[in-house]
Amino acid sequence: MKASDSIRNISGIGPKRAEAFGEHGITTIEELLDFYPRKYLNRKIMGSFQTETEESVTIKAVAAKRGTLRRIRKNMSLFVLPVVETLENGEPVKGEIVWFNQPYLRDIFSENETYYFFGKVVIKNNRRQMYNPQFAHESKLEDFFILTPVYPKIEGVPGESLKKYMAAVFKQQMLIKDDLPKRYQKKYHLLSKEQALKKIHFPDTPEDVAEGKGRIKFEEALKINIGIMNSRALNGVSKISLDNFEALRRFAKGLPFELTASQLKVLDDIVDDMKKGIVMNRLVQGDVGSGKTIIAVACAYLMALNGYQTAYMAPTEILANQHAANFKQYLEPYGIRVELLTGSQKAKERNAVLATIASGEAQVIIGTHALIQDSVAYYNLGLVITDEQHRFGVKQRGRLSLKGETPHTLVMSATPIPRTLALILYGDLDVSYIDELPKGRKKIKTYFYNEKSYPKILNFMADEMNKGRQAFVICPFIEESEEMSEVKDIQSVFSEVKQFYGSRYRIACLYSRMPAEDKKQIIDAFNSCEIDLLVATSIIEVGIDVPNVSVITILSADRFGLSQLHQLRGRVGRGMHQSYCFLVSNSRNEQTIERMRVIVNNHSGKKIADEDYRLRGPGDYFGLKQHGFPEFKALNPYEDFDLISETKRVATEIYNSSDKETMAYRARIIETFYKNLSEISMN
Ligand code: ADP
Ligand code: MG
Repeated sequence: MKASDSIRNISGIGPKRAEAFGEHGITTIEELLDFYPRKYLNRKIMGSFQTETEESVTIKAVAAKRGTLRRIRKNMSLFVLPVVETLENGEPVKGEIVWFNQPYLRDIFSENETYYFFGKVVIKNNRRQMYNPQFAHESKLEDFFILTPVYPKIEGVPGESLKKYMAAVFKQQMLIKDDLPKRYQKKYHLLSKEQALKKIHFPDTPEDVAEGKGRIKFEEALKINIGIMNSRALNGVSKISLDNFEALRRFAKGLPFELTASQLKVLDDIVDDMKKGIVMNRLVQGDVGSGKTIIAVACAYLMALNGYQTAYMAPTEILANQHAANFKQYLEPYGIRVELLTGSQKAKERNAVLATIASGEAQVIIGTHALIQDSVAYYNLGLVITDEQHRFGVKQRGRLSLKGETPHTLVMSATPIPRTLALILYGDLDVSYIDELPKGRKKIKTYFYNEKSYPKILNFMADEMNKGRQAFVICPFIEESEEMSEVKDIQSVFSEVKQFYGSRYRIACLYSRMPAEDKKQIIDAFNSCEIDLLVATSIIEVGIDVPNVSVITILSADRFGLSQLHQLRGRVGRGMHQSYCFLVSNSRNEQTIERMRVIVNNHSGKKIADEDYRLRGPGDYFGLKQHGFPEFKALNPYEDFDLISETKRVATEIYNSSDKETMAYRARIIETFYKNLSEISMN
């Protein structure tokens, strides 16, 4: 049996089980070995009936009776065993062990015998209980105290069988392929892969687990570093030559506001990049409202002055429209021509725009991903600016580069990703942070209310609108299949709001399935203050920039992710007015309340991202999978940041080595790195 053989070679795995494993991507023995326990039961951790526990603990106790079996319902029985634990000071504590639907236990326990029970302690009304614990008689403890792995559930494969298969594999004298060249293993005193796997699947102590996982993590951290190094090496020599950098200062002076220190620093970073003569790949990360757009405008200005075109790619048509208007406002006074290219333009209009792009008359082109279609030929593309929502994989970026002379790229990100994740997601990019908001911005006052308060909130919004402010009411997007749910759909929210206010205000409604033309009309009207109140789905999440809006009410707020709520809130407070955000939800679920509290109490995207991560764990973080985030078996990119930095040195060594085995290893890593990174959806 070899590690690369099918798991069908393991006795006990037939076609059915193999299929069940296949669902989890496990087809070979090697893949089975890379399926790690989710956690370990450590029955050595002793507890007492004195204290309630969140995790399972072991209690040593004497059976006070043989126990009684009770039938509760037709299909439900309870077996209750009264026990007595003796504390260190000799005092007895009475407890009750309860099992559901295990009537055979009636014949198992003997009065006055000592047993060990492993479970959670629950104390209610002075009754001390343990439900469905594992147990052993004191004479049969050999296996009881062994650290027991618990694997993630695989439908159709009982946990006990899985453990048997693992044991069967380890009984064989089998060569488990060790990717990492031996010389590094020796040099850095690492376990072999086989040793590591053995410690992970059959540990004696928690230290074994840490050591085994440590070895796997080390290699995963190494792989990240090598992948990043390679991507950076792709950033080749730039053929774009720029001059006139001081014009940027003049441009900044002409703005109606003063740039923040952070914004100026970012511009400096960009200028430095451009002077270096290599292709710029820079990520600008800044919280909502921190003023990223003007950075993009300034760069487009510089490019145009030097005779190069800039393409700005926005995630939605609404945003593209908005940005086009913005860019025009800033750049047309300098005689720079800004054009818009979107998917919904009619053929005639589109062809006219395409012609101006090809001839170079269009100096700045704003659009959706229509911008990278084959029909678009640029005259002299020098800079591509993309929005993080459309994080382009290496492949897509490459595709764009082919359209121009290796254009510089700038990626704008409002999603506050912790540094670690940024490193991995954007490892091939340099990062600049805008970490302050423009002067004079006031904290958005945020409140969490029950639906009962909704009329009061509507009255509050009326007060704001009477002062000349504008407002949003946001509701979640509802799939038709969810018709029965308690969440109101946008049409009913819209009619309710209209009914509440009568004809006092100009109210409109906006959602993504509307015809593009209608959407544009509504947004234009909202921008020019012809609409007081906009009822919308999260379609407005990014990009609507109206400084006059001072209040946003988010209905069924529990339906939204934390970072999404933060983005939505960022639609207000963009001017000098004190702004307000109301989160409305009837959910009294503890987690929901805690999540809402995070938004109420925090105003920095970074902080919210951290909290989000803490509450949700890494699994679902920002839909990392959709972002093409590589999957890790052992590494937690958030917690193991230090390890990632520490392995950098080893990675450099491997990256620059001319040893044959090492070079082959490096090539394998790079191949899989791209396979993981480049599968990025472009909705
Ligand atoms: P975001 O980073 O979310 O894209 P924007 O670029 O849309 O933010 O900027 C938000 C608002 O702040 C815009 O109205 C913009 O004109 C304004 N703004 C940007 N920079 C400054 C500044 N330095 N001082 C004052 N207002 C600014
Ligand atoms: Mg923006």
